[in-house]
Amino acid sequence: MIINVNKISDRGYALNDTIEIDSTHLLEDESFFLEGIEYQIFLKRQNQRVQAQGKIKTAISLICVSCLEQFDLKINSRFDIILFPSEMVDQRNTALDEEELEYIFYENDQIDLEKILIEQVNLFTPFKPVCKAECKGICSSCGTNLNHSSCQCEQNKNEIKFLFEKVKR
Ligand SMILES: [Zn+2]
Ligand SMILES: [Zn+2]
Repeated sequence: MIINVNKISDRGYALNDTIEIDSTHLLEDESFFLEGIEYQIFLKRQNQRVQAQGKIKTAISLICVSCLEQFDLKINSRFDIILFPSEMVDQRNTALDEEELEYIFYENDQIDLEKILIEQVNLFTPFKPVCKAECKGICSSCGTNLNHSSCQCEQNKNEIKFLFEKVKR
């Protein structure tokens, strides 16, 4: 989905739709989209500077780094970003300072909406995702998912500890 910058007036340009995105764009390993990205975006332009404000709603599947099980992450977030033409960066006499170089750039008067939406999803996706805050993970000895059942390892260890404490006394 490409938006021509010249179509955006200073009064703004609003869009809302649902877009299906290829899961290969997700940065997290083995993650995939469970549904399309529902978005609302409002674009405003001042010369070459474009402000994009919006909301995204989608859900992706992730693998928990602790218990290695698949879980769903619902994404419901807002964004407010500034876009500049990439040509501006090439110019020596650029009006942009260092800080502004972190902004998103568009080329040839074209804004790639899909790219913006994917970036928002990736920004929202936690690095080293866990299925829940209290995830117990897997037992390092036998591999049992401790969220579902307990294993003998910990119990054995405790028993040994108990016997050991007894001996000490
Ligand atoms: Zn987990
Ligand atoms: Zn175990």
